[in-house]
Amino acid sequence: MILGAGAAGLACARSLLAASRTIVVLEAQSRLGGRLLTLEGPGVPIELGGEFVHGTAPISFELLRAADTAAIDVGGESFLFRDGALRESEEDPFEIAARTLGRARGLRDDVSVEEFLATAGEREREFTRTLVEGFDAADPGRASVLAIAHEWSDDPGGQTARQFRPLGGYAPLLRTLRAELDARHAHLLLDCTVRAVRRDRDGVEVTATDAAGAALQVRAQAAVVTFSVGVLQAGVPVFDPPLPAPTREALNLLAMGPVVKLGLVFRTAFWETIAGGRYCDAGFFHRADAAFPTFWTQMPVRSSLLIAWSGGPKADALSTLDDRARVRTALDDLRALFAGDADPHDQLAAAYQHDWQRDPYARGAYSYALVGGAHAREALTDPIDERIFLAGEATASAAESGTVAGALQSGARAAAQVLARYDLSG
Ligand SMILES: Cc1cc2nc3c(=O)[nH]c(=O)nc-3n(C[C@H](O)[C@H](O)[C@H](O)COP(=O)(O)OP(=O)(O)OC[C@H]3O[C@@H](n4cnc5c(N)ncnc54)[C@H](O)[C@@H]3O)c2cc1C
Repeated sequence: MILGAGAAGLACARSLLAASRTIVVLEAQSRLGGRLLTLEGPGVPIELGGEFVHGTAPISFELLRAADTAAIDVGGESFLFRDGALRESEEDPFEIAARTLGRARGLRDDVSVEEFLATAGEREREFTRTLVEGFDAADPGRASVLAIAHEWSDDPGGQTARQFRPLGGYAPLLRTLRAELDARHAHLLLDCTVRAVRRDRDGVEVTATDAAGAALQVRAQAAVVTFSVGVLQAGVPVFDPPLPAPTREALNLLAMGPVVKLGLVFRTAFWETIAGGRYCDAGFFHRADAAFPTFWTQMPVRSSLLIAWSGGPKADALSTLDDRARVRTALDDLRALFAGDADPHDQLAAAYQHDWQRDPYARGAYSYALVGGAHAREALTDPIDERIFLAGEATASAAESGTVAGALQSGARAAAQVLARYDLSG
């Protein structure tokens, strides 16, 4: 039985079906994908959740090929707002942050990123803090510097290296995984919220409620649980007996990072023509002190969609605003970026967003490790009484944690654990 039909649950289903196992997948929502949520945009998809493929991510590319689609390199120039104007960035902020964090690998004791940065230069501190907030959606005052250093500097070709965008977004990949669930051995239960997971010597029994609130019970040999750390920390579902102490401790050493991501569709790609065409090939705009520190275009694809992005403590602050106020804030930030060359308020055609922090089935965007939690992810991969196997982005390796690739990989890993434990006759 697989609990949750996001990337991890679907990848787990694929592996178990390939091994001819009978599976039941329970999903609370009426759609698949969890933190993958693709809308149709102006000639391009609008991804309100996961969008990029970070680094080499073999499992993502394998599945994109299976979906008969491809991914393209993220292109375009990066502009940084400094001294009152946008300037083409000469330095690669990733490189500076990775170099700075590389020095943390020699530390014996874990500290927060903020504490570690106290001795760094001003520029290193600014880039590292901005990227830890923006990329990891983490609070630098709470995030483990050892975990983040491991993620960023041990990772040649990994998630902080090149970035790609699946053509058509992640929707084709989800469709392919969905089609595999039509197999004879698969049962998919949508609108089915898991409330309790009971394990005993004979197996696992899940109690769930359907859309009408009616209770149902499902029994299986084992359960792969793919819910986010935020969902598990909120005590949903209830585990009986409770999760063992090492699992609970590991969960408490992780946190869900907040992200506010807006899809802003404009009447035209106005930034391509202002300022004498200076931003015609822009990919990213950065301004560290803005509420939305990053905007990106769809380059190399030309479209009138801009994404506004805020992660970490700044996203927490934005989460207190209503939808319209968030859009207004993003447009104000954009106007300030372009220093009067354009008024994005006049250009907006439509705005899209999903509140991941208030979504009861996500409770945040993705996980990061708190001080002392550099090994928490690993601890979550230990089977619980040989009956419960945790999967999901939070259980992926440090280099892939928080990503779609990490979630997919974790689903395949949990399936392999189940198959190793339970042979076909068992
Ligand atoms: C705004 C945003 C931007 C992101 N950008 C990127 C990016 O560019 N690149 C990248 O690689 N990653 C990105 N990510 C992260 C990526 O989307 C996630 O890591 C990944 O999708 C997580 O998959 P998962 O299967 O682990 O979890 P989920 O997708 O959360 O799947 C868990 C499933 O369990 C279901 N569920 C929860 N509770 C219950 C319950 N009680 N009963 C039944 N079902 C339940 C949920 O509905 C969900 O379908 C982003 C995430 C967000 C939110």
